[in-house]
Order: sequence, then structure tokens, then C-alpha cells
Amino acid sequence: MSSELATLWSGADRVVVLTGAGISTDSGIPDFRGPDGLWTRMPGAEAMFDIAVYMNDPEIRRQAWANRREHGAWTAQPNRGHLALADLERTGHLELLLTQNIDGLHQRAGSHDVLELHGTIWEVACMSCGERWPTAEILARDEADPPCVLCGGVLKSATISFGQALDARVLRAAAESVSDSDLLVAIGTSLQVNPVARMAGMANHLAIINAEPTPYDDFADVIVRDSISDVLDEVRRSLAGPDAAGSWHDPPADWPR
Ligand code: NAD
Repeated sequence: MSSELATLWSGADRVVVLTGAGISTDSGIPDFRGPDGLWTRMPGAEAMFDIAVYMNDPEIRRQAWANRREHGAWTAQPNRGHLALADLERTGHLELLLTQNIDGLHQRAGSHDVLELHGTIWEVACMSCGERWPTAEILARDEADPPCVLCGGVLKSATISFGQALDARVLRAAAESVSDSDLLVAIGTSLQVNPVARMAGMANHLAIINAEPTPYDDFADVIVRDSISDVLDEVRRSLAGPDAAGSWHDPPADWPR
């Protein structure tokens, strides 16, 4: 199946990739809806990702800050899947990387043209005045529910919770890139979260790499159910060449640990 994907990929002039939490499970960061996903194991955890609950319930915020402190993103390393996508960009086989992930691992792997559709856990935003800080700075205050030092507002990681709108400019740029592309490759996403999932329906050609079925499988030209790291490594070898493998960057010393 990977060879069918490699053929489709190499025949396309403009390839856009859309990644989800599944590409980071091999780096030790659990997804939400996979068999070992956060919500599969703890169905109640979903409430913490609702913006109205977060804003109105200080106990939920304290829990969310405790979880942020322990998040896998601070120590995780990019895996072969992230590195393969960086190589494919570097060798001209990938025009744009759209990601729903908040962990920053694509950039750490060396990808440059990345649109973070759901924001980033590496920054914190004030929900009242909009000011932003590096997450490390806020975690260093060691407060259970740190308020904004400028206006006293509620702080939250600069990620999109349920009930929050996506950045309209980012979403528009992503949608245009999908319309203009020959091939969209959706990787490690259950394609259940709108509006991002709808991009799969806008693709001129669609390939899916995901262990489980998605609502867009019927639209796909190719579906690969194998391990994302293995499949992308095969595509990389086939398109970018066996010696293309890059290396990831260590995070700056002052990042959260
Ligand atoms: P999801 O949890 O809904 O779906 C992930 C899919 O990936 C599942 O269908 C699962 O079967 C598949 N998968 C997992 N590991 C795989 C592997 N190694 N090989 C093949 N398939 C694999 O994720 P989603 O669609 O991205 O939606 C969840 C939302 O939560 C997104 O907005 C995302 O930003 C966020 N999230 C992000 C992270 C992260 O940044 N790493 C982690 C968890 C959730």
C-alpha cells in the first residue's frame, strides 16, 4: 500500500499534508481517540477542552495547568514520521504542512512551512487582553491557576479549545492551499474535528494514512492503515532518497522540562 501512496505522491506537483495527533504517538504523546487515546481511557477528560467549562470552573483550570506542566511535548523528540516530512519538504516533495497538533514537533524536526491550525502549547495567551508569553515563563511562576499580570484575566495555552474559533486567516490560507494542491495527504487524524476535517472533502485527490477508519475514507484515492512512522519513512526513501534523513533540533535550554 505504501508503494501505491509513493506513486501517487511522486506524480503530484503540489502536495499538502494534514497531520493529527496520530503522528506524535510514536514520540510518546497520546492521541485523543485512538485505542490508547486520552479520551478513550478517560471519557470525562473531554470537558477540560471546552472553553466555557475552562473559563467558568477554577478547579478545571487548576487541573488543566497541572496537566500542562506534565505534558509530553516538553520532553518528546520528533520521530521518523516527523523527520520524513521535513525531508520531503527539503527535497521539494511537500509544499505545505497543515497540522492540528500543538506539540511543535514538526518544527523541531526541521519543517519550515507549517500552519498550526489549533495553535501551540509552547505559548500562553490571556483570554481577556490577548497578550502572549512563552509557556515556560508562566510555568516558572509555579501558580495553580496563574492570572494575567497585565489585566488579571484568565490564562490558557494558546491552543484552540472546543467552542473557540480558529484563526480565520490561518484557516483561509489552509483551505486555499488544499484547493490549489493536487494531493492532500491526511496523516494520523480521525478527521472528526471540524472545520479542519472538512478540508479532506475539498481535496482534489486524497490519501489517508491512519490506523482506523475515518468519515472521509470513501473519498480517498489511497488508504494506508500501517504505522505512520514506517509508511512515511518508506515514502521518504522512495521520493527523497535513502541519504536524505535529517536530524532534529534540541529545544532551547529555557524550555519547560
Ligand atoms: P484523534 O485522536 O482524533 O485521532 C488520531 C488518529 O490517529 C486515530 O484514528 C488513531 O487510530 C490514529 N493513530 C494513532 N497513532 C497512529 C500510528 N502510530 N499509526 C497510524 N495511525 C495512528 O486526533 P486528531 O484527529 O488530531 O484530533 C484530535 C485533536 O486533539 C486535534 O485538534 C489535535 O490538535 C489535538 N491533539 C494534539 C496532540 C499533539 O499535539 N500531539 C495530541 C492529542 C490531541
